[in-house]
Amino acid sequence: MITSELKPLKVYQGATPDPKQATRDAVAVLRRGLLPLAEIFYSLQGEGLRTGQATVFVRVAGCSLACSFCDTDFRVRREITMDEVVNEVRGYGSSWVCLTGGEPTLYNEVGTLCDRLHDAGLRLQVETNGMFPRPGWRLDHITVSPKETEGGTLDPWYLEHATEFKYVIDDRSDLRRALANPTAGTPGGPLLYLQPNALNPDAVRLCVGAVQEHPDRLRLSLQTHKLLQIP
Ligand code: SF4
Repeated sequence: MITSELKPLKVYQGATPDPKQATRDAVAVLRRGLLPLAEIFYSLQGEGLRTGQATVFVRVAGCSLACSFCDTDFRVRREITMDEVVNEVRGYGSSWVCLTGGEPTLYNEVGTLCDRLHDAGLRLQVETNGMFPRPGWRLDHITVSPKETEGGTLDPWYLEHATEFKYVIDDRSDLRRALANPTAGTPGGPLLYLQPNALNPDAVRLCVGAVQEHPDRLRLSLQTHKLLQIP
């Protein structure tokens, strides 16, 4: 192959110094019977349909990918029992919990945590890259942000069971990928959000234009927590 035909490799510039090691550390914690968390914090959901609702975020450590643009540090910061998670979450007084990461669907044990949180009267959102179907988990709101351009593969289960898809848009190829989703934004299907890379004014214009062009299919999602400078 001629060298000039090779696509340049994406350079990892994410917030986790060594993503593979972070995931190995997380698995080691699970083997000790504890949950590997990066953090638990209370804020408002900043993106998608639930924007503006008070939410306790449980950030699970480790991920199946190492996206070049990842802005999350998913190293293990806490090793904690399920009882401790449930008690801490309930202490905030919000009825909504968002399991995020890293990639929370990576581990079977998080399904047990879902049961425990549900049994405590809480409602559950999960934010996932959509690689691992979890039909047995008791989830009330599934947000999928596919990462095909970073090596992720979307499991078809999510096409029928997601509440919303969210595509981060930088250019027209991202937009084409979002519009190629066969169910999102169609009648009865998951909602379809475009989330422009806010650092790229062209992406903002592209998304606004696309939503105007497909008014019944697309919605704009902004990272309102970043605009408000809250966690
Ligand atoms: S899937 Fe999400 S958390 Fe994992 S590396 Fe990619 S952007 Fe980061």
